Amino acid sequence: MNPHPRRSTRLTPGIAYVDGRYVPVSRAGVSIEDRGYQFADGVYEGIALRRGRLVDLEAHLDRLDRSLAELAIPAPMARGPLRQVLQQVVRRNRHRDGFVYVQVTRTAASRDHKYPDDLRPVLVVTVKRLNFDAVAARARKGVAAVTAPDQRWARCDIKSISLLPNVMAKQQAAEAGAFEAVMVDAGGTISEGSSTNIWLVDAGGTLRTRPLSANILCGITRQVVLKLADQAGLPVVEDGFTPAEARAGRELFLTSTTSAVTPIVSLDGTPIAAGRPGPVALDLLARYMDHMDTS
Ligand code: PMP
Repeated sequence: MNPHPRRSTRLTPGIAYVDGRYVPVSRAGVSIEDRGYQFADGVYEGIALRRGRLVDLEAHLDRLDRSLAELAIPAPMARGPLRQVLQQVVRRNRHRDGFVYVQVTRTAASRDHKYPDDLRPVLVVTVKRLNFDAVAARARKGVAAVTAPDQRWARCDIKSISLLPNVMAKQQAAEAGAFEAVMVDAGGTISEGSSTNIWLVDAGGTLRTRPLSANILCGITRQVVLKLADQAGLPVVEDGFTPAEARAGRELFLTSTTSAVTPIVSLDGTPIAAGRPGPVALDLLARYMDHMDTS
């Protein structure tokens, strides 16, 4: 049975793992009483597949464990079998470069806000093609970004599937013809992008990114880029900055699993520095692409 026959062309082609079975995405489904569907009561991970390898897999699985623990959702399976499911989804879809999506929702249960006593977490894994050579090519040109108010909750460190403010911010960017929305908190400081972490090379040449807190996601790419910057001998501080500081800086860029290191060349229509990707971001992009092949 196809639960969404008229929408199948919008779905990810291929095979998904859904709650114990490998099924075509076009025929996959979960209960309408899944708490992910009713309450956004679940967490996720997104992992890059590069030349057949899952990049920084253990770091992603560590973050998944943390998100689950913070929400008292039991792991759907041990790490060994989970790794095998991810590999199996990749193999069955025959992708070499792609994006693996892993979602765990608390359980399906009759609707009631409090956590049910008897939990059976629902694991879904999909993979879609993503050409990281094209990602790198786009990054070398740079992208536009706009600012948007950060309207999210106080636990953005949990990688929850509750993404409505992020979705709205990304839509605002898309409608402005921009690639990303840079979210600004109530205090006027940039928190992060709608699906990325944000970095500045300030007027003095120091690389800056906001320190970890409950207000941002601990990006895996962020962690890696901090290490790469250190190896490159760049001065780095974990320190937030405002849109005005961003506009006065030498370089602005974003990091994420699907965007690698991507220079931001304009913010709200104003060019950043020369309006071209800068040397620090391009060097970190090259180092990150190398990391994807060798980590
Ligand atoms: N912040 C947010 C809000 C995100 O959704 C993402 C993407 N998962 C990131 C940052 C970047 O995280 P990562 O480098 O692990 O992809």
